[in-house]
Amino acid sequence: MADIFDLTVIGSGPGGYVAAIRAAQLGMKVAVVEKWPTFGGTCLNIGCIPSKALLHAAKVIEEAESMAGHGIVFGRPQIDPDRLRGWKNRVVSRLTSGLVALAKQRKVEVLRGDARFLSPHRIELRGPSGVTIVGFEQCIVAAGSEPIRLPGQPDDPRIVDSTGALELQGIPARMLVIGGGIIGLEMACVYEALGTRISVVELSPGLMPGCDRDLVRPLEKRIRAKYEAILTGTKVARLEALPDGIRVSFEGDAAPEPQLYDRVLVAVGRRPNGRAIGADAAGLRVDERGFIPSDRQLRTNLPHVYSIGDVAGSPMLAHKASHEGKVAAEVAAGEKRAFDARAIPSVAYTDPEVAWVGLTETEATAIIGDIAGRNVLLVDDLTETAGTLASAATLLKAKGAEKILACVSHALLTDLGVERIKNSPIDELITTDTIRRPVYPGVNITTLSVATLLGEAVKRIHHNSSVTSLFEFKGGRTS
Ligand SMILES: Cc1cc2nc3c(=O)[nH]c(=O)nc-3n(C[C@H](O)[C@H](O)[C@H](O)COP(=O)(O)OP(=O)(O)OC[C@H]3O[C@@H](n4cnc5c(N)ncnc54)[C@H](O)[C@@H]3O)c2cc1C
Repeated sequence: MADIFDLTVIGSGPGGYVAAIRAAQLGMKVAVVEKWPTFGGTCLNIGCIPSKALLHAAKVIEEAESMAGHGIVFGRPQIDPDRLRGWKNRVVSRLTSGLVALAKQRKVEVLRGDARFLSPHRIELRGPSGVTIVGFEQCIVAAGSEPIRLPGQPDDPRIVDSTGALELQGIPARMLVIGGGIIGLEMACVYEALGTRISVVELSPGLMPGCDRDLVRPLEKRIRAKYEAILTGTKVARLEALPDGIRVSFEGDAAPEPQLYDRVLVAVGRRPNGRAIGADAAGLRVDERGFIPSDRQLRTNLPHVYSIGDVAGSPMLAHKASHEGKVAAEVAAGEKRAFDARAIPSVAYTDPEVAWVGLTETEATAIIGDIAGRNVLLVDDLTETAGTLASAATLLKAKGAEKILACVSHALLTDLGVERIKNSPIDELITTDTIRRPVYPGVNITTLSVATLLGEAVKRIHHNSSVTSLFEFKGGRTS
């Protein structure tokens, strides 16, 4: 056996590289193993970074076009997909190469190859320099996830997943996006700006399942007007690769006749890589969906093996993976830490952007019970004072909210507070005691650029201060 490390990390995505660097900072002898030629995982290579680079290009095109009505006409953009791809690739490679340098600087051993467990304390690594065995005291599995294929999907270069779509192999005239989730809609946004006629098909009744309906509505309204078709509640029954295009058959009440597309993007979700690392040989538990479950200390069923990021569970988001990576490394180094995310923000960088953090209104309603009519729910369980709740409620009422529910910690309701709330336009006061489950603060935002507001929301939630003032900026949601 070549080397024995204090800690071996499988995967160099935003979970794995953060874990490796943090563990090295804490004095551990660390190796990170990666099967791809570059570091950074899905996020840096084929996910967040290249998609956001292309979304930036799309935004510039959109903004230039939008000035036409205000007296500045730029003319039709000339798009050179090869140069655009080259720019996107340079953005990616600057980051991925910087990451390797950072890991080496921190004395993290960088090993190339496909890792599989041989036993609880050993992995086999098949890489460019042959097969090596790596031993470790502890291991963090950060093996990420892969796009799901549709059953019976033909192998054809015109049918792509998000990785293929980001490759930008030409600009198709007509494209179908299968899956109206965040990834599908972001890619639709990019290709539409580049000049493709887009259709989106989504199995569930609405776009972006899991997100509050009123939050998605402004986006849906905008893209229904711009795109060729938005087919919700519709299933793709068959894909056929024909010489002149991909023929797609649909099922559902509003299903159209079969259509021919130049390109089809399959964005129907991602599957965790838990089954691809020889987990059985170590006795590591993998669940039926391929996740490797872990507890709040990120420990799996084997106390010396941790799982983080996409392979550990949803939400599949880079910042969640990184935070878990930091916590797992600290636990592995003997520190008393636990993953206790009170609020994990989600953002769709569509146009308009859509974001939420903490409970969505749908989730809060599910906890509290049926809420009739148009409402605004102020959810803030720890530190909200009666005074700020009352003034936020007044503001929302002035903006046209019909019914206001306030959800606050019982403990904070002093007699004085109750009196102030009684005299405010809050229709109903729900306390966390009534709900009998902890309710974390939630903020939903849809506007042209949510990043600043979202950052503010998270900061406030984590510092246990009010999130309600953000409602002031939320446009659309209360009116
Ligand atoms: C198009 C797209 C856009 C996205 N946009 C966003 C966004 O804007 N914001 C956001 O938060 N998230 C976004 N995501 C999700 C984000 O990319 C993932 O949640 C994140 O990358 C997960 O990090 P991870 O470290 O768990 O795994 P990954 O980033 O998937 O990294 C896993 C790494 O492990 C390696 N690996 C796997 N198995 C082995 C093995 N056996 N041996 C050696 N190496 C192995 C893989 O090669 C890979 O490099 C996006 C994803 C996609 C596809």
